[in-house]
Amino acid sequence: MTATHCPYCALQCAMHLDRGADGVLTVRPADFPTNRGGLCRKGWTSAELLTAADRLTTPLLRRDRDAGLEPVDWDTALDHVVDRVRAVQAAHGRDAVAVFGGGGLTNEKSYQLGKFARVALGTSQIDYNGRFCMSSAAAAGNRAFGLDRGLPFPVTDLAGAEVVVLAGANPAETMPPLMGHLAGPRLVVVDPRRSATAREALRRGGVHLAPRPGTDLALALGLLHAARSEGLLDDAYIAARTTGFAAAWRHAAAWWPERAEHVTGVPAARIREAARLVGAARRAYILTGRGVEQHASGTDTASAWINLALALGLPGRVGSGYGCITGQGNGQGGREHGQKADQLPGYRRIDDAAARAHVAAVWGVHPDGLPGPGRSAFELLDALGADGGPRALLLFGSNPVVSAPHATRVRDRMAALDLLVVADFVLSETAALADVVLPVAQWAEENGTMTNLEGRVLRRRRAVAPPQGVRTDLEVLHGLAVRLGQDAEGFPTDPDAVLAELRAASAGGAADYSGVTPERLAGGEALYWPVPEDGTPTPRLFLDSFAHPDGRARFTPVEYRPSAEQADGDYPLLATTGRLMGHYQSGAQTRRIGELAAAEPEVYVEVHPDTAARCGLADGERAVVESRRGTTVARVRTCPGARLDTVFLPFHYPGEQAANNLTNPALDPTSRMPEFKVSAVRLRPYTDR
Ligand code: SF4
Repeated sequence: MTATHCPYCALQCAMHLDRGADGVLTVRPADFPTNRGGLCRKGWTSAELLTAADRLTTPLLRRDRDAGLEPVDWDTALDHVVDRVRAVQAAHGRDAVAVFGGGGLTNEKSYQLGKFARVALGTSQIDYNGRFCMSSAAAAGNRAFGLDRGLPFPVTDLAGAEVVVLAGANPAETMPPLMGHLAGPRLVVVDPRRSATAREALRRGGVHLAPRPGTDLALALGLLHAARSEGLLDDAYIAARTTGFAAAWRHAAAWWPERAEHVTGVPAARIREAARLVGAARRAYILTGRGVEQHASGTDTASAWINLALALGLPGRVGSGYGCITGQGNGQGGREHGQKADQLPGYRRIDDAAARAHVAAVWGVHPDGLPGPGRSAFELLDALGADGGPRALLLFGSNPVVSAPHATRVRDRMAALDLLVVADFVLSETAALADVVLPVAQWAEENGTMTNLEGRVLRRRRAVAPPQGVRTDLEVLHGLAVRLGQDAEGFPTDPDAVLAELRAASAGGAADYSGVTPERLAGGEALYWPVPEDGTPTPRLFLDSFAHPDGRARFTPVEYRPSAEQADGDYPLLATTGRLMGHYQSGAQTRRIGELAAAEPEVYVEVHPDTAARCGLADGERAVVESRRGTTVARVRTCPGARLDTVFLPFHYPGEQAANNLTNPALDPTSRMPEFKVSAVRLRPYTDR
C-alpha cells in the first residue's frame, strides 16, 4: 500500500494505492482533512493512467518536417535536442530558445525547470500554463494583502461559516469533495450558468446570481454599494486593518444596484438580497475561481471581490475570509518556484536585486548573469517562430494546442518553430507536432511534493516503477543540462536533493519552504507555508497583520470595463468555457480513461432551448459554433436554466471539438491572463457547413 495524492486537481485528495495479487494497482480513498474519505470519479479511476495503452516508452524523433516520428534511443534524442538548441542560440541568441512548464508539475520539477532555463539555457523565455488559470487572483491577492496564497486558511474552516460566496467557481462539478465542507453554510453562487453548484445552492435555500459574462466586476461593485446602503460594512475593521477605502469607494459609489442590474442583468433586488445575506453573517467567506479571473480585466475583477471582503471585515479573521480556489494539481506550488516569466524561487520578483542575489548565490552564478523577465505564456506562444521570437521550444507538463486560447493560432505558431521538444507520457496533441518527444514518468511512478489549494505541502509517493525506457522529468533536465556543459551535481535527479536546494532558494522569500523536510513530511506534519527552517507552519495567514510593510490590507480602486469582445449582429451570443467532472484540463489524461471518456465522450454546447430554436437547432443535434477566431463542432445540450444570450462549452477536447478554437487571447494588463470566459459567437446547424 502506498499513501499518496490524486494526480489531478488542487484539492489533492489523499488516497492509497493498493497492489492486488495480479499486480494491478487500485485506488482507495484516504481519510485526510481536505477530502475526508471522498474522491471524485477522476480520482477513483486514476490508477488506470499508469497502464494507458498508448504509453510512450521510447524517445521519438522527426528527422525532417515532412517525415514521421521514429523511435530512437535516449542518447540520440538528447544529443539531437542539444545540438539543435546550440545551433539556434548561436544563430539567434539565447532568448531564441524558450521553455514552457505546467501547473501540474511537482514543486521539484517546477523549481528545476526555472533553474534549467535561466542557468543551463540562459534564456529569459520561460513561462507556464498556470498563467492561464491563477495569475489574476495572484496579482490581486499580492496587491491587497502583500502575499498570495490561494486559501490563506485550511479548507476545513469553511464548514463553520454561515454564508459562503462562490464567485466564478463550480466545485460541485470540478472538485466535488470540497462540497463536503460547504454542506452547512448557505451559498451565494455567482455564475452565468445554472451550474451544478448553483443548483445545489438553490436546493439549499441559497442564492444564484447569473450575471452576463464579463460583468462580474460591476456585480461586485453593486454588492459593495448595497452592503454599504444597508449599513453592513465593518467600519472598525476598515479603520484598523486597511488603507484606501475612500478611494475604492469613490469608484463604487456610482454602482447602486439598479445600475449594476442594467450592466449585469442581475435584478437589483437579488443584489440587495445577496448583500444582506453575506453582510449580516458573523462568519462568511468569499471565494473566487476562474470565472472571476479569466478576463481582460481579471485582476481588477478579483480586486473588486477582495474589496467587498475587506469592506465586510472578512480577511484575516478566524472563521471568515477571502480565498481563491486554485485549479491545477500544483497550481499553488507551481507558481512559487521560478517557472513564471517574472519570478524566481521563493515567490520572489525577478526584477528585485536582493532576490536575484539570493537565488544566484544558491545557484552558484553571478546575479548579472541571470536573465530578466521574459514573455508571459500567451505572448510567448504567440511569438514562436516570429521575427524576434523564440525559434525553439522545450515543453513540459502542458498541452497548449488544446488548452491555450485561440488554439488554432497556437498550433500555427508551433509549426513555425525550428525545434519543438515535448516531454510527456503519451503522444498528446502537442507532442504529435513535435520534432522530439521524450517519454516521461507520471504521478505514481516518482516521488515529489505538491502544494495544495490551502498552501499545504504534500508528499506524492512512488508506488510503481515507470515502464522500461521511460525517464523522469528531472532525469531529462539532468541529461540536457550536462550536455549543455553544466555540472551534474547542479541538476540532481533525486527529488529530495532538488527539494533541499529549493528550500535554500526559497529561504526568506514570501513562500518560504526552508522548513519543509522529507522527515517532517513523512511524519504527516501539516506544513502550510511559510515554513521557516525549524519554524512552525502557518495554517492561517493575516490573523495579526497583512504582509504589507504597514501590516494593513489595501483596497484597490477598480472600475468596470466591458469585455474585449461584445455580442453584435454578426456574433450575437457570448460563449464561456469551463470544466466537467469527468475530465481534467486538456483531457490528455482523462480522455484515456475508459469510464471517463464514455461518460463525456465529446464536446457539447449548452444553450437555452429558445436560443437553440432561434438558431435552427434541437437538443442532441450537432452545431457549428463560430467566433472571429475559429469554429468548434459541438453536440447541442439544451438547458432551460441557461441565459438566453450565453452558451457554454467544456474545453477538454482537441481538434475541431476544441472550445479554445473560439476563445479570445485578449490579455489582462497586469496578470497577462487571457480572456477565456467571453467570446462573441454564433451557432448554426452542422449540416449547413
Ligand atoms: Fe480530489 Fe480533485 Fe482528484 Fe477529484 S480530481 S479526486 S476532487 S483531487
